[in-house]
Amino acid sequence: MKTPSVENWLQVRPEGLYVVPADLYIDPQRPVERAVVTHGHADHARPGQERVLATAETLAIMRHRMGAEGAPRAPQALRYGEALEIDGVRLRLAPAGHVLGSAQVVLEHGGCRVVVSGDYKRRRDPTCAPFEVVPCDVFITEATFGLPVFQHPADRDEMAKLLHSLQVFPESAHVVGCYALGKCQRLIMMLREAGWDGPIWLHGAQIGLCDLYRAHGVALGELRPATVADRESLRGGIVLAPPSAIQDRWARRLPDPVVCMASGWMQVRQRAKQRGVQLPLIVSDHADWPELQRTVIETGCAQLWVTHGQEEPLVHWARGQGIDARALYLLGLGEEEEAA
Ligand SMILES: [Zn+2]
Ligand SMILES: [Zn+2]
Repeated sequence: MKTPSVENWLQVRPEGLYVVPADLYIDPQRPVERAVVTHGHADHARPGQERVLATAETLAIMRHRMGAEGAPRAPQALRYGEALEIDGVRLRLAPAGHVLGSAQVVLEHGGCRVVVSGDYKRRRDPTCAPFEVVPCDVFITEATFGLPVFQHPADRDEMAKLLHSLQVFPESAHVVGCYALGKCQRLIMMLREAGWDGPIWLHGAQIGLCDLYRAHGVALGELRPATVADRESLRGGIVLAPPSAIQDRWARRLPDPVVCMASGWMQVRQRAKQRGVQLPLIVSDHADWPELQRTVIETGCAQLWVTHGQEEPLVHWARGQGIDARALYLLGLGEEEEAA
């Protein structure tokens, strides 16, 4: 089957992916006139944009992180599935299952459908809408964990590890390094589902986005600020902190801290060691290798473009499946959260 020539209307520019007829960029790395933003992580949502199309949740996250100064000057909220027509390009957003408000961008023009995944995962995540497979001609995917060695274990097993350690070291505070947007709230929900109904302590940097999630209907249970807490009350507790804080003075003032970190990268032993992590928890908000493959197949795409991460192995694999695949090497993506 021949794919209608998408290069005529979708281009890679220094600012990012550019939709020519609609004059808009997807996740632009610099300020532009018109943008679609897939989700609120800092490597996808850059400050200083004029007009921005995104989900209401992503717009709220951008406002929270950027303040009035950096937030989009003319935000326009789109619900999942709500379609817009912009200069002959039909556009809608579909859930990406990555963090609250995260979206894939579905574009239709000249008889061709393109789906831009943004970041995504296929695992269950009670803090956001699940990934939706959208059949398309061209699938533009991330590949953060695009190597066969990356096969994330079951989330439940990782939570069981943490709860077990809490039993073995009841006098210790378990400090878990996790990114403030997405991973933190997902961990809280996973702990709740695993039966941890006591308070969960938060580093000051985690509080604002937890409040934002709650305001969007994600019930996180009892959360308490760790910074002002009496040291002894943290014994036997779980403290969630930014990855940068788990090794500094802040964490050392916790009672007999056990240093944990929740990230897809914790599968790489060396990385856990470097960070001084005693209990690595492999919890990822990105698709692992089998999930990337499954997703590509399920979209039924004839063309695969890989934006960021481990591009080459996925491109190589896709070509073996008869898919016309290429790496885009988009700059700037993959610099926050689970970046290398
Ligand atoms: Zn992301
Ligand atoms: Zn990303």
